[in-house]
Amino acid sequence: MNIGILVIGNELTSGMTQDTNSSFIARELYEHGWGVSAVMTVGDDRDAIRGGLDYLMEIADALVVTGGLGPTVDDITTAAVASAFDLNLYTDDVVLKQLKRRFSRLNIPWTENNAKQAMFPEGAGIIDNPVGTACGFFLERGGRPVAVIPGVPVEARKMFSDGVIPLFRDKIAYREHVAKRTIKTFGRTESRIDQALSHEDLKIPGVNIGFYPRFPEIHLVVTSRGEDSRRTEENLRVVCERIEGQLYRYIFGYDDDTMEGVTAALLTDRGLTLSVAESCTGGLITDRLTDVPGSSVFLERGVVTYSNTSKVELLGVPASIIEKHGAVSEEVAILMAEGVQKLAGTDIGLSTTGIAGPAGGTEKKPVGTVFIALSAGGNSTCRRFLFRWDRRRIKEISSQIALNMLRRFLTIGVD
Ligand code: AMP
Ligand code: MG
Repeated sequence: MNIGILVIGNELTSGMTQDTNSSFIARELYEHGWGVSAVMTVGDDRDAIRGGLDYLMEIADALVVTGGLGPTVDDITTAAVASAFDLNLYTDDVVLKQLKRRFSRLNIPWTENNAKQAMFPEGAGIIDNPVGTACGFFLERGGRPVAVIPGVPVEARKMFSDGVIPLFRDKIAYREHVAKRTIKTFGRTESRIDQALSHEDLKIPGVNIGFYPRFPEIHLVVTSRGEDSRRTEENLRVVCERIEGQLYRYIFGYDDDTMEGVTAALLTDRGLTLSVAESCTGGLITDRLTDVPGSSVFLERGVVTYSNTSKVELLGVPASIIEKHGAVSEEVAILMAEGVQKLAGTDIGLSTTGIAGPAGGTEKKPVGTVFIALSAGGNSTCRRFLFRWDRRRIKEISSQIALNMLRRFLTIGVD
């Protein structure tokens, strides 16, 4: 069963906006066992929309269309779809009332052009929009389902998952059973992971392993497809287990896990508290940890001690040590971790100090030199790194390594 995707919008054909809807929709379709025969992008133009619909209806068993359902004159998708399928438009009174109610509730003055969003091709079913104003619609041509949803990505995603997928499930047969697991790794390059995985015992019919680098992580997406659901699940389990056997040291999580989420869960489970002193990461470690709900249970404080003075004043690092070894040094990193841990009275202290560049490097400590230290239970460890990326990436990878050091400390103790 192959599905066509038509994305509509002048902002897409002009390159002003990158199309993210089609990749999301394709991924979701693929995960549900359907294939995608073509993805097409056209502008807000009646002839182009008709051409796209004609072509995709030729080659696909069903269609998903996004974009151009807004109230303004440039949004013409509803009218263009109706005309391509020789359908008249009608105003849906229920949707019109809902729209007017929504406007008055949000205190937005009603203008007549908004009534356009209550118009649908005759015979179409309406797809609710729980996150915005434009409803989508659904019709069938020659037994082929066509779903039309708005272009705003949060709306398109929600409506596709909640509204379109269930409709497709009803209307089109499952081709295959699909089971999927994402294995998230950090600390090894793609090629080394690939090397570690080039084993015959991972080759099981119907199972595919895809590499998805998401800086600074490498995700492995293992997909198992087949007619029989139990066999499909079992094949997935077997391959994942074998990958785990080969890469266990580098796997930090699965599916929706994040490095900060996994680390936070470990801290919470063990009932340990943390404080963080950040220099070159500028608060990013603390930012990521505070993205996790419930982080107040373990996170006592995070301080950004960027200047030498702040390292002395807020962390108690002796000025003489900074003078002797430099602010970017193992000695200072350890004293920062120990200092914040002591002042905050936490079980663990974590610190970063480095030269993110582009200036400030020396021969001994070139741009990209970063020290990351962890202090706990009277012991401190520090690791030195040399990164070759820009400032943002150096911050990202440094925060990732700091969180990973913490994660590994919590699971296996000091490396
Ligand atoms: P529309 O539903 O066409 O009015 O789209 C509203 C806004 O959503 C556009 O201005 C874009 O910023 C965004 N948008 C529309 N289509 C896409 C798409 N395929 N991918 C990403 N963003 C989109
Ligand atoms: Mg548009």
